[in-house]
Amino acid sequence: MKTIGLLGGMSWESTVSYYQAINQGVKARLGGLHSAKICLYSVDFDEIEKLQRLGNWQQTAVMLSQAAQSVEKGGADVILICTNTMHKVADEVQSNISVPLLHIADATAEKLLADGFTKVGLLGTRFTMEQNFYKGRLTEEYGMGVVVPNEDDQTIVHDVIYNELCLGIINKGSKKRYLEIVDKLHQQGAQAVILGCTEIALLIQQKDTEIPLYDTTEIHANAAVEWALASDK
Ligand code: GLU
Repeated sequence: MKTIGLLGGMSWESTVSYYQAINQGVKARLGGLHSAKICLYSVDFDEIEKLQRLGNWQQTAVMLSQAAQSVEKGGADVILICTNTMHKVADEVQSNISVPLLHIADATAEKLLADGFTKVGLLGTRFTMEQNFYKGRLTEEYGMGVVVPNEDDQTIVHDVIYNELCLGIINKGSKKRYLEIVDKLHQQGAQAVILGCTEIALLIQQKDTEIPLYDTTEIHANAAVEWALASDK
């Protein structure tokens, strides 16, 4: 089994989900007392969030590249950035390490296409919903159609992520609002909705709606498990 390197803490609430999903995946595959080999670097999210707000992505790229190098030195064979938003600097991080980086949008697109979905809704931070680093990858590299919420709904989705979910706050009203937004995306033609922020599955889950939801945390974690075990062969 190979060692999975995680860049976490963005936020730590979702890193817990990664840690659990990866270990559960290895246990499901290997059984018994098996657990995943993981090397984790967990950042102080306050530092990252301030830089995001200032638009200083270059500095976040430096910080995450250094974190990735530490994890590589610690023995990681593959690296995951445990947040959709910070994939904005995925190319810079990859260029500073010699092990592969498993891109969250690639893992998600591959799963959606395998399930036959080509037009999808996307929920995430405003950076993820607005900018091209994520949507562009889905449309240009995978030929998918992507629908995002309107301006007001984007504000709701973004604010709930930073003011509630990243702080471990799960609010019933926010859940209702998110599910309404999922419905609207469906009405706009989305066959499925990407939970394109690693905390969203803490708020809404598949049991809450009939519209197919794609939890990027689970998909990314599963892709890492497959990679870590397949590489043994
Ligand atoms: N975890 C979130 C994501 O997947 C948001 C936190 C962040 O800005 O990294 O985008």
